[in-house]
Amino acid sequence: MGMRRRTGGFVLAVNPIQCDGFGHCTELAPDLVRLDEWGYPIIDKTPVALSNLSALESARLAVRGCPRQALRIERVSDLPEGPAHRT
Ligand code: SF4
Repeated sequence: MGMRRRTGGFVLAVNPIQCDGFGHCTELAPDLVRLDEWGYPIIDKTPVALSNLSALESARLAVRGCPRQALRIERVSDLPEGPAHRT
């Protein structure tokens, strides 16, 4: 069997109970996080392909940089077919 491509995806997930709402994550991962009017993160639940290395690196930066450890990367094993996921 040959090498498998990285076909899965990920979503950046926030625990709203831990989050302090200062919005540091939007600076670390501006392509993944935007803020609501109170400064709490709004994260698109659409999976991002693991092959999108710049988005994955942004997500890792946000996870490491979150002062409340409120963020985590959740793996999604199968991306939906077609344009439903972000690449
Ligand atoms: S960096 Fe962490 S604590 Fe701050 S707004 Fe983002 S998720 Fe919340």
